[in-house]
This record gives sequence, structure tokens and C-alpha cells, in this order.
Amino acid sequence: MSQATIIDGKAFAANLRADIGRRVAVLKQRHGLTPGLSVVLVGEDPASQVYVRNKGKATLEAGMKSDTYTLSPDASHEEVMAKVEELNNDASVHGILVQLPLPDQVDSDAILNAIDPDKDVDGFHTLNVGRLTSGQDAMAPCTPVGCMIMLKEVVGDLTGKQAIVVGRSNIVGKPMAALLLKEHCTVTIAHSRTRDLAGECRRADIVIAAVGRPRMIGGDWIKPGATVIDVGINRIDDASTKSGTRLVGDVNFDEAVETAGAITPVPGGVGPMTIACLLKNTLTAACRQAGVAEPE
Ligand code: NDP
Repeated sequence: MSQATIIDGKAFAANLRADIGRRVAVLKQRHGLTPGLSVVLVGEDPASQVYVRNKGKATLEAGMKSDTYTLSPDASHEEVMAKVEELNNDASVHGILVQLPLPDQVDSDAILNAIDPDKDVDGFHTLNVGRLTSGQDAMAPCTPVGCMIMLKEVVGDLTGKQAIVVGRSNIVGKPMAALLLKEHCTVTIAHSRTRDLAGECRRADIVIAAVGRPRMIGGDWIKPGATVIDVGINRIDDASTKSGTRLVGDVNFDEAVETAGAITPVPGGVGPMTIACLLKNTLTAACRQAGVAEPE
């Protein structure tokens, strides 16, 4: 069996980011409009700090305005809420992202639902979740949107394809399933209580892995020729690297690459597309708020 095509998420993301940068320039020139993204970080979690830094850098590189507000780890619920309300009322801010997870004293659901739905570039507000699941035009979460862009490019028409989403979180699994359904796939959503997960996966033309368990999905779970999108990011020990660790996905890549038709690597697959799609959502949000057409 020949090896799978490796889906180059870095290249997809570079193209999308360049395209967004070009469209932001058109927006500035035509309408004097600079899309703005504000990120709220509560606490000092090192992984969150890296994510937030990368998001800010990408936003500036696309020609957008970027602000990051860092609140102390013991910030109260009210303080975080006040920051969200301030940003809701700031006309130069078109996108608001509150970095998750939030500390225990902060009610995450209440904070996410306090974000103006039109500025909700993460797509986590209940209104956007409802719009997405009812098939309306919605601000959809960045990671699943990035997966869909790559899938459509690699597979083409998704109509009638058997797709399995392993994982049912609100940020990846559920919105991913809704987007696949919108493209007329026959969708199975699997989770920790699913019986015969391997058998369910073997029936699928498209496997989306969003579990958070290193290399759980083996090569013999993959139907020959299937397309595999690995969302998982897991750090494992590896004495052969300088840091002593490395990142792997939820799929056993070395095995699956022998069976799949196409597969995303980790790192370099879904991750880079998530940030690119955040910029995409910010551009869309800015155009909608300003009442102008999105540049082609
Ligand atoms: P969650 O922990 O919120 O959800 C994990 C899901 O996997 C749950 O639905 C859980 O089932 C299911 N699950 C856990 N164990 C098993 C098992 N043994 N068999 C079947 N299903 C199982 O994770 P997220 O959705 O937030 O993230 C998933 C992965 O994706 C993580 O590795 C995360 O780091 C990564 N990620 C990557 C992003 C990117 O940009 N590339 C962005 C976001 C996440 P149950 O509901 O029954 O508990």
C-alpha cells in the first residue's frame, strides 16, 4: 500500500494568512477600517501565554490591531466580566477572545456568553452555537473551521461521506460534527463511552481525532484510503530530543500513514490553521460590524 498524502497544515495556514493580509489591506484602503482583535488572558499558565503571544503576533502580521489584556491569576469573576464589557463597548475592537481555561473563581460559561455575539470570534457564545447547529450563518469555532478548509481541499465534495468525530467537546468535537453535517456527511460522534470505537472508525471515510490521548487511534482502525485529521496535541517524553519531550497527536501517525489516503501530521497539521481561522473570523466580524462587504 502506498503512503498517505501528508496534509501540510503549515502551507494551508500560510496561504490563508497571506490572503487575509491582502484583504485587510484592501479594507483599510477602501473603508479606512482596521480589524481589531483583543485577547483576555487570566493567569500565568505557560501554555496559554504561548498561545496568546502567537495569536497576537499573527494578528499584527495580518495588518490588524492586536491588544492583549493580562489579568492576575486571582482576578475575580467581576473583574473579568468588566473587561469583557469594556471591550464589547469599544468600537475599535471587532473580535474578543477570552483564553481558556479560566481559573475556578471565574464562571467560564457566563463570561463566554457575555461577549457580544458579533465579536465572538471563537464561536463559543450560545447564540453562535445555536446558529451553527441550526444550519444558520454562524461564527464557528476556529479549530473545526480550519479542519473543514483542509478537508474540502483534500477530499472535494463531502456529500454522503461517512465521517467519525472522536471527541464531543464544545470547542472541537460538537462544532466539528455540525460543520460536517452541514456539508452532508453522515456523521458519527464518538466519546469515552462508545462501544467498539475501532470498528466505528474502520467504517469511516473521514476520521477526526479530538481526544487528547497520545496515539490512541491505531493504523488498523483506519479504512484504507480514508482521510485522517488529527486535532490532538499531546506532549510525551522523548529522550532523543533536546527538551526531552515532543508533541504527538491522537493518531498513531507512523501506522496510519501506511493505510490512510491523506493525513495531517502533529505538529504542522491542524494547529497552524486554528490561528489562521481566528484571523479569518476577525476579518468577517470587522466587516459585519462596519456594514461593508468582505473583500474578495
Ligand atoms: P476534551 O478533553 O474537552 O474532550 C476530549 C473528548 O475525548 C471527550 O469528549 C472525551 O469523551 C473523549 N475521550 C476521552 N477519552 C476517550 C477514549 N478513550 N475513547 C474515546 N473518546 C475519548 O478535549 P478537547 O476537545 O478540548 O481537545 C482534544 C484534543 O485536541 C486535545 O489534545 C487538545 O490539546 C487538542 N486541541 C487542539 C487544538 C488545535 O488547534 N490543534 C485546539 C483545541 C484542542 P467524554 O465526553 O465521554 O469524556
